[in-house]
Amino acid sequence: CGIVGYVGSQSALDVVVAGLKRLEYRGYDSAGIAVLADGGMAAAKKAGKLANLEKELVERPLPAGSTGIGHTRWATHGGPTDLNAHPHLDNAGRVAVVHNGIIENFAELRAELAERGHALSSETDTEVVAHLLAEEFSACADLAESMRLVCRRLEGAFTLVAAHADEPDVVVGARRNSPLVVGVGEGEAFLASDVAAFIAHTRSAIELGQDQVVELRRDGVHVTGFDGSPAETRSYHVDWDVSA
Ligand code: GLU
Repeated sequence: CGIVGYVGSQSALDVVVAGLKRLEYRGYDSAGIAVLADGGMAAAKKAGKLANLEKELVERPLPAGSTGIGHTRWATHGGPTDLNAHPHLDNAGRVAVVHNGIIENFAELRAELAERGHALSSETDTEVVAHLLAEEFSACADLAESMRLVCRRLEGAFTLVAAHADEPDVVVGARRNSPLVVGVGEGEAFLASDVAAFIAHTRSAIELGQDQVVELRRDGVHVTGFDGSPAETRSYHVDWDVSA
């Protein structure tokens, strides 16, 4: 339902949780976050309100990191449980993904992954993406390219945002029939399903087009089509007023 991604030098946890709060008005049943820190991926997720996730983060703090992704879920496949909440990770716990929308051909992809030895632990349509990204990444060591390859295999409507522990300064996003906006700051960049999530940090935004993948780094963003062709982007200034 709500998606936030961040790369920069601030605490990713603070930026992502604050961003998710800005998206709370959309309604959700669970929330979660993943942060890249100390060479690994650390995640926390909880059914219920963001306050439940915040409580969990106080009881079991995540290591500090400046790259992170977060999600508020509106369950479509699998009940609103801690396990089904996003982010979803691969079996090695190196890649994390959050997703809005529905992956129509998930059952087929699940069966295929199970045959190749992947153990899927949730009931969501989303989890297949984490496993597929892990497979592609192990071959090409490039998260944006892995995302393009995976997206070409997906059917349905989706916004996806992912991070990989082996590319710690990168967040990747993709979209088809579901919105995703990039926020470009000074030495930092944001991804969100709605500009409200990052407007406190930057008002320079890029609307991602249909079937596009964006690679976010501190010093800039790179957008391509699912086929890898470079995409034209135009940034715009978000001038609407947001107060708390
Ligand atoms: N279909 C996914 C799920 O049920 C994503 C739902 C959403 O858009 O929040 O987990």
